[in-house]
Formats: sequence, C-alpha cells, structure tokens
Amino acid sequence: GRRILLSPRGQLLTQQKAEALAREERLMLICGHYEGVDERIIDHYVDEELSIGDYVLTGGELPAMVLIDCVARLLPGVLGSEASTEDESFSTGLLEYPQYTRPRVFEGHAVPEILLSGDHARIASWRRQQALLLTQRRRPELLEKALLSDAERLWLKEQTEEPS
Ligand code: SAM
Repeated sequence: GRRILLSPRGQLLTQQKAEALAREERLMLICGHYEGVDERIIDHYVDEELSIGDYVLTGGELPAMVLIDCVARLLPGVLGSEASTEDESFSTGLLEYPQYTRPRVFEGHAVPEILLSGDHARIASWRRQQALLLTQRRRPELLEKALLSDAERLWLKEQTEEPS
C-alpha cells in the first residue's frame, strides 16, 4: 500500500488529493505522537506526508480518521447517490452553492423563488453564480485555480465593482 504519514509538515490534504488516494488499491496510514516520527523512517519508509491543516494536534489518529472519511466517501457505493459528491465544495474548484430543502417557508424565511421555478437551466445558472460569489467572498484564492469561463470572470468582476 501507499505509505502515508500524517504530519503537520506534510502537504495539505485537499479534495483533489483525496480523489487521487481513492484510486489507490491500498493505503497505510502512519500516526505520530509526541515530537513526531524519526526522520529515517520518513526518508526510507514513507511515500508521502499529509497534513489536515495548519495547526498541531496531539497525535495522528484524528487526522487519519479525517483522511479515511474523506477518501472512503468517494468510493463507489459508500454514499447513497453516486452523483452526490460531484457538485460539492472543492470538487468543482469552488465552494458549494447554498442548499435549501422543505418547507418552502421556514419561520418566515422563504426558499429563493428561482429554485421553485422548475426551470433546470436557470437553476443551474443561479447555483453556479452563487458558488462563484460565495467563493470570491470567502476563499478568493480558490478562484485562481478554478476553471472559469471569460464570461464568468467578467461577471464576477462586475459584481465586485457594483455589489447588489
Ligand atoms: N513536532 C511536530 C511538528 O512540529 O511538526 C508535531 C508533532 S504532533 C504533536 C504529533 C503527531 O500528531 C504528528 O506526528 C502527526 O502524526 C499528528 N498531527 C498533528 N497535527 C497534525 C496535522 N495538522 N495534520 C496531520 N497530522 C497531524
């Protein structure tokens, strides 16, 4: 199996990395404690070091569980619907658009009208725009790598210039 050491010094675990790991036949996860792991083990027995974020935990068990959950849910048959991971945050390079469910009005707050229109093309376009806006507001650095059309980049620029 691919030998992965959980470590704050590792590369950040991203959705793209999780997708790559989900294609591996076997994974072996190594969890450190105290100061970490002897550098010779890292040099000679570890294929890759992965971090779950820029903070330090006591041991590698929780990071290993995070990695297992993130990778396992990408395997066929683990989630109910095969399509359910496709639109999620990071899969498209953007944060996910806002989600709504029943009832139509909750404590006086209505679901956006467009989502009740039944017009699938307009709904898809609204969701894409919401994902773009949310990503720009919260994680603008993601937009640098995300696949956006020229029209989308122009539209986003207009939104920043004239916030509605
Ligand atoms: N001395 C190490 C350093 O400064 O990089 C920190 C060691 S930490 C206290 C003990 C173990 O917890 C690490 O060997 C690693 O397995 C795990 N760990 C802690 N934070 C982590 C993180 N952000 N991502 C992945 N593993 C982490």
